[in-house]
Amino acid sequence: MIKFLDLQKINRQYEAELTEAVNSVIRSGWYILGKQVNQFEKAFSDYCGTKHCIGVASGLDALILIFRAYQELNKLKPGDEIIVPVNTYIATILSITANKLVPILVEPNEKSFNLDVDLIEKHISQKTKAILPVHLYGQLADMASINKIAKEHNLLVIEDAAQAHGAEDQKGVKAGNLGHAAAFSFYPGKNLGALGDGGAITTNNDELARVIRALRNYGSEKKYDYQYKGFNSRLDEMQAIILSVKLKYLDIENKKRKVIAERYLSEIKNEKLDLPFFSEEQDHVFHQFVVRTKKRDGLQQFLSEKGIETMIHYPVPPHKQKGYSEWNDRSYPITEQIHREVLSLPVNPVLTNEEIKYISNVINKY
Ligand SMILES: *Cc1c(COP(=O)(O)O)cnc(C)c1O
Repeated sequence: MIKFLDLQKINRQYEAELTEAVNSVIRSGWYILGKQVNQFEKAFSDYCGTKHCIGVASGLDALILIFRAYQELNKLKPGDEIIVPVNTYIATILSITANKLVPILVEPNEKSFNLDVDLIEKHISQKTKAILPVHLYGQLADMASINKIAKEHNLLVIEDAAQAHGAEDQKGVKAGNLGHAAAFSFYPGKNLGALGDGGAITTNNDELARVIRALRNYGSEKKYDYQYKGFNSRLDEMQAIILSVKLKYLDIENKKRKVIAERYLSEIKNEKLDLPFFSEEQDHVFHQFVVRTKKRDGLQQFLSEKGIETMIHYPVPPHKQKGYSEWNDRSYPITEQIHREVLSLPVNPVLTNEEIKYISNVINKY
């Protein structure tokens, strides 16, 4: 059986180093907001090229805290509209509604699966204050176009970079440094994954960083002095040191993902399915390798019978979820079709050459 994502095997590569790191935290006697979080924040902001990184409890919290901080800074207020792709993971949308902001759902580009930049302007109103692009599956959204539109209309740009650690644009600017602020997730299955939950915000804005730092810690900048109505959303010392270890290998792992993707792109030849669109302009770190076919369920079944585990990202779009029942009769045909047709193949960096060959061969026989 070829697992879709073999986290055991991925983390075993670093087991000795991780064990030593975790032991050092156990021995330190300091577990929340200490040296390890500071060191990781410094390392990750250096990696992304941003002035600040603030570690938090999850990717969803990272997004929520960005919107909350902008409200504290009077840049956003309840009822303001946020342009967001409807073809995304639910957390993207939750972060908007959790802040009493209004998501303006926009269809994706058919090829890239990312926000269709040609549709943005017609969705802008007096109330629009921000764009929240998602680098879905690890492929950068068209940030040059998005930033241009945002500048013309005086909008904030907040990246959902939860799937795109290390992706960089043609000038070498990394995800996390392509807007006003960005949110990352370190959920174990992400390209940079902790051994538990974790997230971070990156930004070059000093004020925003200061407010988020307070918000993640009950709203306090000084112990027992509460400036804001805050949260408890902290990256802990254990996850921070684990992430510092794994950050050193992120580029190597992303490279392996790209090599696997390139092999699939050249070896899979089957007219029944479309391979992911991959351009020089929008870098792709292949968090997922997603094929598209009208016969998706059949393909998934066929691969499963041949011992290949696959996943669907995602089976039901946000507007068809019960949690958003107010949108259930809306129709976003491109997004809905994508959800019916996509299938994610294993692309994790520990796949062997034989496994990649086998998967390609099996797909070619479908
Ligand atoms: C994983 C993910 C999130 C949420 O991150 P968590 O750490 O699981 O809260 C948000 N947006 C996207 C696009 C994601 O893939």
